[in-house]
Amino acid sequence: MTGGGSAVVLEEKKATKKINTFEVAQLRVKRAVEQLCLPMDVYELLKSCDRVIESALPVEMDDGRIRVFTGYRSQHNNALGPYKGGIRYHPSADIDEVKAMSIWMTFKCAVAGVPFGGGKGAVICNPRELSEKELEKLSRQYMQAMAPVLGPGKDIPAPDVNTNAQVMAWMADEYCKIVQCNSFGVITGKPLDMGGCVGRETATARGTVYAVREAAKTKNIPLDNAAVAVQGFGNVGFHAARMLADGGSRIVAVTDSSGGAYNPRGLDPRALFEYKKETGSVKGFPGSEQIGNSELFATDCDIIIPAALENQITAETAPKIKAKIIGEGANGPTTPDADEILKDNNVLVVPDILANSGGVVVSYFEWVQNNYSYYWKETEIEERLELKMVEAFEHIYNFKSDCLNTDDVTMREAAFMYALKRLAEVMKVRGWWG
Ligand code: GLU
Repeated sequence: MTGGGSAVVLEEKKATKKINTFEVAQLRVKRAVEQLCLPMDVYELLKSCDRVIESALPVEMDDGRIRVFTGYRSQHNNALGPYKGGIRYHPSADIDEVKAMSIWMTFKCAVAGVPFGGGKGAVICNPRELSEKELEKLSRQYMQAMAPVLGPGKDIPAPDVNTNAQVMAWMADEYCKIVQCNSFGVITGKPLDMGGCVGRETATARGTVYAVREAAKTKNIPLDNAAVAVQGFGNVGFHAARMLADGGSRIVAVTDSSGGAYNPRGLDPRALFEYKKETGSVKGFPGSEQIGNSELFATDCDIIIPAALENQITAETAPKIKAKIIGEGANGPTTPDADEILKDNNVLVVPDILANSGGVVVSYFEWVQNNYSYYWKETEIEERLELKMVEAFEHIYNFKSDCLNTDDVTMREAAFMYALKRLAEVMKVRGWWG
């Protein structure tokens, strides 16, 4: 397994660029409506977003020039509660992606059983090219633009790709200044000193590990002896790899946006993290072979955790997958074509709206604590998260088993149907249809 590297990653990115994530999200919703034999009115209510905002965000750069960035916020549906979802900073963010992700959030919150609707935000930028001061100004500008539609009872952002607790702190501070009141519940994923929640940073990864653990039980795969490949080595990928390795799993392959590392005897996630901190990538990690994403997906392993961006497992990569379980740490990593192939090959895909819901679950805990101004201990958070994840997994797994044609229904379809049932019911009692 040699070659790979950034050229391969780039080629793969080009090949997957054509897929419209918003259309994929709509397709998934439509299919769930049809499978549950619900009236098309329900689909009409869910196929578009309630509100989509695009805003110009002018920032005075360190060299004195003005640069205008583009920011988005999409609010999909708030039948179950205030809109909820992260804000990502990425050079290739676009409006369709943001809208799709907000649909995903509506369904994710319904699956996870947290009283939120779905929202998502993004700024088109490469945060690595910005200084700390520029990043702060940009984050404050984002809040200036979006504050009128945000609020603890309206829409509550959180971190996502390339945003972190510090970015949330700047935004929350800006919001508090605008409304002239310390309203920390407007954003989750904040630093601990500012009403953040212990364990929020590792929550998505922890939730993914719990979901994968439950999936492994159903396939009789001992997790403490499993070989795992992880695509993406950011917040989710690193912590998931670390937790799985601590539990005895062997992390055989890891890739990031610049390349990858492979070692069938296992990679040490902490050492890999330090190496990436120094060099900017996992590529070239001592003792490993260099690989690209297509090799990662084809790796001989039991479990794959996609923890990067969407549309990574495609009709080209899916047939090569040997793993028995895919735990989607990322949002939308698998295309619909790939889903079909994986279903035929009996690969259990634990879908994003279940597998990565740990982040929004702990966001919910943070919001509850902010509303009460009373804070829980870390052990309480971990126990509650585990309970929520196991419960959600069981709900979806049992829902799938209860379907008449159970072999024909994937876990993703079951998750969408389960969420849709809740959404349709609440929209009905609210008088939105029927
Ligand atoms: N960005 C995370 C997600 O996609 C977390 C969202 C939240 O906590 O609101 O699930």
